[in-house]
Amino acid sequence: AKDPVLEITNLSVDYGYDEPTHVLRQVSLTLNRGEVLGLAGESGCGKSTLAYAATRLLPPPGLITGGQVVFTDRDGTRRDVLALDDAALRRSRWQDMAIVFQGAMNSLNPVHRIGRQIADAITAHEPRTSKADALARSAELLDLVGINPDRLRDFPHQLSGGMRQRVMIAMALALDPQVLIMDEPTTALDVVMQRQIVEQIADLRERLGFSVVFITHDVSLLIEIADRIAIMYAGEIVEDAAAQDVYRRPRHPYADGLLHSFPPLRGPRRELGGIPGSPPDLASLPTGCPFRDRCAFAFDACAAVQPELAPSLVPGDDPARAVACHLHTPELVAAAGFAPRPL
Ligand code: SF4
Ligand code: MG
Repeated sequence: AKDPVLEITNLSVDYGYDEPTHVLRQVSLTLNRGEVLGLAGESGCGKSTLAYAATRLLPPPGLITGGQVVFTDRDGTRRDVLALDDAALRRSRWQDMAIVFQGAMNSLNPVHRIGRQIADAITAHEPRTSKADALARSAELLDLVGINPDRLRDFPHQLSGGMRQRVMIAMALALDPQVLIMDEPTTALDVVMQRQIVEQIADLRERLGFSVVFITHDVSLLIEIADRIAIMYAGEIVEDAAAQDVYRRPRHPYADGLLHSFPPLRGPRRELGGIPGSPPDLASLPTGCPFRDRCAFAFDACAAVQPELAPSLVPGDDPARAVACHLHTPELVAAAGFAPRPL
């Protein structure tokens, strides 16, 4: 049964004011309670922008130009995130949704012990919590992410990169959020450390029951952890499907290329191919499909009509599977006056 905790509808973001670039174009995405949603795509495709816009952390010159973000609390209360005032937003940001930023592990203060830094994060949001209680909770949080609580007294430089990243995850979990958003949480780490972090997050999700948005350019990581995967390209979602379906049979040519760009963490090795060319300039997108310059399957409809994210019409596909590609919506292509290209 669908139990949405975060619903993003037609969210659009521009950068710049005079001649704005449309960096996020009418993106819709639903995160269900308890689910791990992977968000993948090359750098610059809008993944981080989506996360920051949905949590109202978008720095200028980013500007939300349209759409809706609704958070649903455990008791069913719905909050319109884009309309929250500052106080409600601060509360929401730690208790509803917490975010671990890209490169977060380098944002620890080098001159303070990590115990104090976690405790400060707690008391900043709960002014009535005593220092001693906050420190005790910091110890529990460290234990939760698999770090010996004795290390509360360590300075950041005494911890490995993977441990520092786990400290950031512990901090994000301090107020028991219902949604944890992680932007490239493992990117700076070696493969062994990546594995450990991914397993840790899966384990914590199991125990604590929060939902996760896991953002990465490495789609092979998502196969390990995600229930669903949304693939972004040029500011839009081009495929949104169950992780297993994306893995077994990606529908969008870009999703297929992305899957073959990274070695899997386990299982049979795939042939690595990568995707020719580079993402389009968002300030001057081609007509039709934004991916068509790089797509080996492009046909005449692709230059004329931009494909919408729509349920795949391929027989046997999960009805919840959505793809923005003319190959998978032959009826729509025919209705637009083009001959569908057979797969
Ligand atoms: Fe390729 Fe056309 Fe599909 Fe775009 S719509 S991904 S160009 S086949
Ligand atoms: Mg990013």
